[in-house]
Parts: sequence; C-alpha cells; structure tokens
Amino acid sequence: MRIFEDIKSIKGIGEKTAGYLNKLGVFSVEDLLNYYPRSYVKYEEPTAVSCDCCGMLKAYRLFVLDDFKWKKAGKLSIGTGYVSDGTNRIMLTFFNVPYYKGRLTKGATYIFRGKMISENGRYKMEQPQIYTDKEYNDLCVGLWPVYRLTKGLSNKVVSRSVERCAYENDYISLFKEYLPDDAIKRFGLCSRQDAVIGIHFPKDEDHLSSCRKRLSFDELITFLTMIRSFSQRSEAEKSSYVMIETALVPRVLEMLPFELTDDQKNALKDIFNDLTGEYVMNRLIQGDVGSGKTIIAFLAMLLCADNGFQAAMMAPTELLAVMHFNNLKKLIEQTGIGIGIALLTGQTSSSDRKIIYKGLSEGTISIIIGTQALFQDKVSYSKLALVITDEQHRFGVRQRQALSLKSDSPHILAMSATPIPRTLSIVLYRDMSLSVIKNKPSSRLPIKNCVVDTSYRKKAYEFIASEIKNGHQAYVICPLVERSEGLENVENVIDYTEKLKEAMDPDIRIEYIHGKMKDNVKNQIMENFANGNTDVLVSTTVIEVGIDVANATVILIENAERFGLAQLHQLRGRIGRGNAQSYSIFIDSSGNKKENRRLNILNSSNDGFKIAEEDLKIRGAGDVFGIRQSGYIPFDIADIYEDHEMIIEIGDYLDEVYSKDPEMNDPELAGIVEHTRDNMHKFIDFKTI
Ligand code: ADP
Ligand code: MG
Repeated sequence: MRIFEDIKSIKGIGEKTAGYLNKLGVFSVEDLLNYYPRSYVKYEEPTAVSCDCCGMLKAYRLFVLDDFKWKKAGKLSIGTGYVSDGTNRIMLTFFNVPYYKGRLTKGATYIFRGKMISENGRYKMEQPQIYTDKEYNDLCVGLWPVYRLTKGLSNKVVSRSVERCAYENDYISLFKEYLPDDAIKRFGLCSRQDAVIGIHFPKDEDHLSSCRKRLSFDELITFLTMIRSFSQRSEAEKSSYVMIETALVPRVLEMLPFELTDDQKNALKDIFNDLTGEYVMNRLIQGDVGSGKTIIAFLAMLLCADNGFQAAMMAPTELLAVMHFNNLKKLIEQTGIGIGIALLTGQTSSSDRKIIYKGLSEGTISIIIGTQALFQDKVSYSKLALVITDEQHRFGVRQRQALSLKSDSPHILAMSATPIPRTLSIVLYRDMSLSVIKNKPSSRLPIKNCVVDTSYRKKAYEFIASEIKNGHQAYVICPLVERSEGLENVENVIDYTEKLKEAMDPDIRIEYIHGKMKDNVKNQIMENFANGNTDVLVSTTVIEVGIDVANATVILIENAERFGLAQLHQLRGRIGRGNAQSYSIFIDSSGNKKENRRLNILNSSNDGFKIAEEDLKIRGAGDVFGIRQSGYIPFDIADIYEDHEMIIEIGDYLDEVYSKDPEMNDPELAGIVEHTRDNMHKFIDFKTI
C-alpha cells in the first residue's frame, strides 16, 4: 500500500507550505508521515530562577511587574519590561512580537521558556516563549518532535500537519499490518499504526524506542527481502570471461614504490583466482579507510585489459573518479604499455563523450573510470568483463546492477570501507564472497588525535603552520557551506576561510571547497591541493569519501560535536595515508562533558566498528536520533550498528521462511513480499551525497 495523496489535501497546507515541504522532499501524505523528527524535546517542569540554570533552555513561572514598553527601531519593534518570581527581578526583551503586547501586562502570570543569562548579578532573558499554565501542562506530557526545516517553514506547521494527517484525515488506518502474527511475537514488535504515529509523538522514551524498533524492522526486512530477490543468480554461474595471469601485473608490482601488505596480497590472490577461474566473480573487498583498496582494483583492471577485455570502475563522486583516473593513467604510462583508458562523468563534454562511446563500443578503450554516467543508456561496451564499484555502500542496488547489465554476467568487484563485522556482512551481502584487508601498511604511524575546545584554536593554527613549513598540507572541516540562520555557532566554509586567512601568515595558500560548487571548479581545487599548490583546504564533508592526498598530515574538524563518530572516523581517514606522522584535531564547541566523552572514543580506537559500538553505549536508547551515523545503506531509521543483532535475526527468520516456502506462496508471507515491493524504491535509487 502506498499513499500518494498530495499533501495539499491536508487542511492547513496551502500552496506555500506545500512548496516548503516539497523542498524537503515531502510531496505525498506518505512522505509526510515518513518525515521522521530529527530529535525530540521534552518540556520540563518550570524551575526556580538560579544562576545554575544560566545559559540553558529552561522554563520559569513568572509574573509581570509592570506593563511592557514597546518602541520601534527601524523595522524592529522591541518590547522590554520586568518579571519576577517573587524574589528575583528579570529583565525580558522581545523583538517583533506585537501580538504579545496584550499579554505582557502588569500582574499577568505565565510560563516563560528561554535561556536566562546573568550580567553583573542581573538576570536577563531575550525572546522567551510564553505559555499559560494550561498550555504548558499539556506540553509537559510526552516528547515533542523537532523536524529538519527550511526557511519559511516552522516546526509547529510540520507537527500540526502530521497530526492532522494522522488523526483528522485518518490516514493512519491505511497502515495495515502485513506481518504474520508469529513474526510480531518473535521480534516483540508494536503495531505499525502505533509506530507510524508514535515516532512523531511518542509518550515517553520507552515508547519512542518501541516505535523506532518497529520502523527499523520494517525497513530492514524490506531491504533483506529485496536483496534475496535480486540475488537469485545461481552462485556458480559459468564465466564468459576466463582470464590468464600475464606478465603485466608482476611488472607493475615491481614498479610500485611500496610492497603490498599481506592482506592486500591475499585479496589480490582471491580476485585473480576468481578471474582466472571457471565461474563469475562476485566479491566484496572490505577494508578500513586508508588500507589500500584502490591499488588492488587497479591491478584487477590491468589484468583484465591485458587479457583483451574491458573493465569499468564506478566511483560515487566526480572528485574521486577524477583522482582514480589520474592515478591509474600515470601508472599505465609508467609501464610503457599502450592501454586505452578514459574518464566519463557528468562533466565530460559532448564531443569527448562521443569519442568515448565509440571507443567503448569498438573496444579501443579497455579501462574506463567514471561516475554513474558509466551506465547511461547510450553507453555500450564491446566486451565488459569486470565491473568495480568503489565505496559501494554509496550506491543503490539499481545503480550497481545497471552497470553489470551492460554486459553478459561480468565479474563484479565491490569495495567498501564500511566497518561491519563478518556476521553482519554475511546477511547484508549474502550473495558476495568477501576479502578483508585488515592491516594497514606497516610503514604507517598511527594518527595522533586530540579533542579540544575552541580556546585551543590559536594553538592549532600555529601547529598547522609548522606542519606546512615542514612541507605538509592540512584540511579544515566545517559543517556548513555558508552562514545559516539559527546556526550561528556552527562554522561555515566561506566565512571560516576568510577568518583563517586573516589568522595565518599571508604566504600560506588557503582554498575552500564544498558540495554546492560546480564539478569542474571542485576538480580544479582538488587538483591544486593534490599537486601541493594549496596548503590548507577548508572543506565540508565533500572530501569524506576516498580522497587520497598522502602529503596531508593534519585534519582540524570544527564543531566535531555535530558529526557521528563513524563519519569523523572517515574524515580522519583522509590523513595518515603517507609515512609521516599525522594528526587529527577535533574541536568540540558543545561545552558538554558527555559530548566530550563521546568524541574521546576516537582516541581509544582506530577500528570503525568498535567506535560505533562505543558511541551507542554512551548515547543510550533515548538519544537515538541525537547524532546519527552517516548512513551507509540509505536507511531512514534503521542503523547497521544499532540494529545489528536484529539484522542477523531477520536474516535467520528469512532463511527459515524461504527454506519452508521458497516461492513465498504462503498467504501469511504475501504481506512481506508486497511490503517489500512497495517500499524498496528508496534502496534501489541512487542516494546522492
Ligand atoms: P582506501 O582503502 O581508503 O581506498 P587507498 O587505496 O586510497 O585507500 O590507499 C591509501 C594510500 O596508501 C594511497 O596513497 C596508496 O598509494 C597507499 N598504499 C596502498 N598500499 C600501500 C602499501 N602496501 N604500502 C604503502 N602504501 C600503500
Ligand atoms: Mg578508497
């Protein structure tokens, strides 16, 4: 069942509001109900005025001492006055809320909720929210949703619309149960209807976790059932592209400035056994950031080309595709062997494109590297024998499949840095063989980490300057691209670059990069950095995946508190790629002890999975929406770390179900099949980043 009804059919949502919601990807009633809150607020009982609460968001019960005074300052209307709790006098200031005029009169009592500050012993508060006792009492029940918004759209409008949609329009009743009773019992799940609405308006934290569990289950069973339906390809399919080992690869290995690690050698052996064997390869290489997966992929492509076949490698971003292309091209040039290699991305000009299409269909191009442009309709290959996806967790299933459909059962090699335990890989990637690259090159020194507050910034800049003096380079990461209303304490790339230029020596060359820039501009900036023509690159998380500049030895991450640990781990993976000692500096602007403890986990381990587990222990169940891991598989709510036991259990359940009823004909199971069909669209489509 899908509910495609336009959101405009809901009372209170007109053209304008619908426009804002559309911007957030919410078009239908179903989208709205699935637009999960980013976090929740709990309205606490009013508290006594005291310095201990200064700077925190708190509610106070106070009465107005005298009518407020209102004046105009340009376009601004400002109201000031005093309120009291019987002992303390507090000055309040309001901006542009003329409708409060009638309320803020002598003797009136309200609950004021805001951040109190104390200046020279005087209490002050700006722009608190005002509630009557009854209004506030109603709020104190349950948790209230906080949604991701866009300019012009208020949280209240979203929550009110969800409420209307669920109760007044009764769309909730359309969310019928599709699971067999025994599954509901076995997994201890609440009803779907309860979960769909409860995720927006949970009664308490326990209720929230049970709603979350149910919705995660729904997502996971869809995903796992879908994978099964796709992986029906018999495990032992005969290969049409049987290769032989040639002299080229050993020659390239000789030329490399390093020796492969044992894990790399094993992975390469696995792959070569597959490629020279009788059956089609379907293999995943798992290896943490910086473990050296790329060279393995390159060698596989070279073997393929040397056997007279074609190989294609797909990267999730243009930046990464360009980088891989440049590196492999260099390597091929060094061998002195003529192997046709090309780059194909969304940026490739139409005249170049024509030449590349021709080269691919005629077979003069043996190796092609690119983005999803590689599998567009117009591209046809003459003998595509090997398809590689780098950072494969960034692609939807359809994208991965589309490329492999360009040929008759080509060999498939996927590479992922997702640090997940083997038990989980078996369920998630059940149809793939696995090679793990566990150990990093022995020449690498472990990264030195520190978690500091903003007062350390000056020292950090000095440290970066000294690294640059020694010939190294640095990254600085900011969460935002540009200044954003309501997020004044969050650093943005554009302003930060200016600040940094002022703070640092003028000979230090600083550039910035972010995802909103045109691809060709981004490539140029990245190239400058890779070639050592820039010293400091200020960036958003666009550099999070794959980028490899071995000379960069420092990464400074501003507002580290805003990132998931897995994401921070990926970010720090940008450094420590060469032999020099590297450093990551996490700036924690939260001023919060618990947050500091969370970030310090990064000091204790370099194992991505352990980090994620520790993160969860600290956060606790109530915090599940606090800071999410960067999503590896595009789940809206499920999380491969948090739900990893459930994933394994669902895998077992499906094994049992399928072994009893391989066609899923049982009417009890039809619901699961139908639910999968209705909901798998989000896993199939490309997840843009
Ligand atoms: P990832 O696994 O994150 O994709 P890369 O393949 O980009 O990592 O490798 C990171 C860096 O390590 C690259 O600069 C690469 O040249 C280098 N590298 C790869 N293998 C080795 C090795 N065996 N010894 C030393 N350096 C290596
Ligand atoms: Mg990589």
